[in-house]
Amino acid sequence: ALPVPDKQVASVCPYCGVGCQLTYNVKDDKILFVEGRDGPANHGRLCVKGRYGFDYAHHPQRLTKPLIRRADAPKVPHATLDPDRMMEVFREATWEEALALAAGKLKDIRDTSGPKSLVGFGSAKGSNEEAYLFQKLVRTGFGSNNVDHCTRLCHASSVAALLEGIGSGAVSNPVMDVTKAEVIVIIGANPTVNHPVAATWMKNAAKNGAKLIVMDPRQSDLTRLAHRHLQFKPDTDVAMLNAMMHVIVHEGLADRAFIESRTMGFEELKKNLVGYSPDEMAPVCGIAAETLREVARLYATSKGSMILWGMGVSQHVHGTDNARCLIALSLLTGQIGRPGTGLHPLRGQNNVQGASDAGLIPMMLPDYQKVVEPAVRARFEKAWKLQPGTLDAQPGLTVVEVMHAIGDGKVKGMYIMGENPAMSDPDANHAREMLAQLDHLVVQDIFLTETACLADVVLPASAFPEKTGTFTNTDRLVQMGRQAVNPPGDAKQDLWIIQEIARRMGLDWNYKHVSEAFDEMRKTMPSIAGITWDRLEREHAVTYPCTEEGDPGQSVVFVEDFPRDSGRARFVPADIIPAAERPDAEFPMVLITGRQLEHWHTGSMTRRATVLDAIEPDPVALVHPLDLAELGVKPGELLTIESRRGKVSLYGRADESSPRGAVFVPFCYYEAAINRVTNDSLDPVAKIPELKYCAIRITAG
Ligand code: SF4
Repeated sequence: ALPVPDKQVASVCPYCGVGCQLTYNVKDDKILFVEGRDGPANHGRLCVKGRYGFDYAHHPQRLTKPLIRRADAPKVPHATLDPDRMMEVFREATWEEALALAAGKLKDIRDTSGPKSLVGFGSAKGSNEEAYLFQKLVRTGFGSNNVDHCTRLCHASSVAALLEGIGSGAVSNPVMDVTKAEVIVIIGANPTVNHPVAATWMKNAAKNGAKLIVMDPRQSDLTRLAHRHLQFKPDTDVAMLNAMMHVIVHEGLADRAFIESRTMGFEELKKNLVGYSPDEMAPVCGIAAETLREVARLYATSKGSMILWGMGVSQHVHGTDNARCLIALSLLTGQIGRPGTGLHPLRGQNNVQGASDAGLIPMMLPDYQKVVEPAVRARFEKAWKLQPGTLDAQPGLTVVEVMHAIGDGKVKGMYIMGENPAMSDPDANHAREMLAQLDHLVVQDIFLTETACLADVVLPASAFPEKTGTFTNTDRLVQMGRQAVNPPGDAKQDLWIIQEIARRMGLDWNYKHVSEAFDEMRKTMPSIAGITWDRLEREHAVTYPCTEEGDPGQSVVFVEDFPRDSGRARFVPADIIPAAERPDAEFPMVLITGRQLEHWHTGSMTRRATVLDAIEPDPVALVHPLDLAELGVKPGELLTIESRRGKVSLYGRADESSPRGAVFVPFCYYEAAINRVTNDSLDPVAKIPELKYCAIRITAG
């Protein structure tokens, strides 16, 4: 029998963007077990991470005291950054000493080298209120827009294309709308692994008769239920999608009434499609022309077709172009603005939507209000009680740009809250060298992460179940996460730490409760103006846009118009751009990185969760069995993956889901950090790195 809890706390899952609601069952300030709640996104369901991935919060490696780097301890960027061994390079400090050093040095750098020499990385693991206050600190305390977070590595290209094409970077329809769709297109995503509960709704829909079209170079669990699996060659999304649009235009399947009344730029798109006939594109993308025709007809003529996509679409140098094609496909056929249609970029982290909404990005203030627009800056200066002209008018640096700016001597100090760029950044060897080069690095986290190992000051923060705040899921659902247990030792709530740094940087802040930060957000963000703290306490979840109190919130948007000045959506044509680094004789294979079901991002939490770590304890590379045989490597034996930037050793796993010549590696293993191998070439529009494609070679051993 399960032990009897003395407390039950309603909250949400700390992992993926599905946003499953759960109950923490607590006894003696420890979480005993977790159960699913009947939330709008999960209806009681949880995946293995949500159900078993909670005891990281009680792990013995939790940081319980502020740490200051010993004066004689060098920063060694290429060491295997093992937290137990790395503790030796720090000494414990009081909060007063650590905060004074952390903020004092940041202030010195700002005053001597200028506001743009400082950068803040927030986190999509944090709450909306933490994201909001963090970006406000950087903009008003550091003095520039140099603030970003892991959305840059995730859906930055999707958001750029959506803002450009339809005026909103969020999803048009919730995941649950798959139950109303006749055709469901899933492209560049593996929901069974990355959005597991959402995948169950997709599987149910397919079993109930919806036609599932999976487009992916890799096979996944969903391909078993798919009506068609278009296993296109990696890097050829634009060729395949343009060919489908070519069919739709040339067979008269476009929705002329929708195009004429609600869009602009169709003639340009049509002209661009001329060179993309299915017969010409079939050898490029590896999908037969007749299959391209069949799928295009199916998508265009169904009563409701919905597209969901993941990082297979977004993490390319042509990520924005990939998303532009998906948007054009939906506009061309009028498959948007109704239940069971629309566009859904599946958001990764549980609050990547909310952190972006709250302004944790360098080009936009909260609610995607552009920093370059004087009226926007004036509005925020008034709301934040700043002198006119205080806010920086220039967009700040993005994640990968920051690493290069450190090398150029332009960035000298950083404050990183909850991110782990030493593991998550592409070309991580370079990123680590740059982090080690900083004059001053402050890291706020719950473990001594690989990034924290390179810090000057480490501030022990609160884990997800140790704080209250709001989180916005992939469906635009703002949900209440509630504190269930206390932080260990002297660890503090993140909101308290941000505020203490802000005060020491000269800001007069006095937020007594997280709800005060949320109330301020409502006043500056029209999309959530109607959501009150009391309502969230009562209802647990409210969908935005919700512009006034009593508004039920809109789960399906763009019903009548698009939030652009003209009210019309815009077609943006795209042409084929090859990956930045193609295979060659020296590096003949392709590397694709991603996640595993049991582990989350850089592994700092899930690898310290007992059950999850027991299921997947070791670093693995998923290689086609014929490729393994050719290498002379038996499944389970060590192999080395190497690119022009770095190499790692890990265990080979025979896996037929990857095509021959392509290798899949999860990025959560610090002892085989695959981002040491990846390429940091950027999409020119969204500045997202090409984490889904680079050239490698594999050797045995
Ligand atoms: Fe958590 Fe996502 Fe799993 Fe739901 S599907 S339990 S939100 S990891």
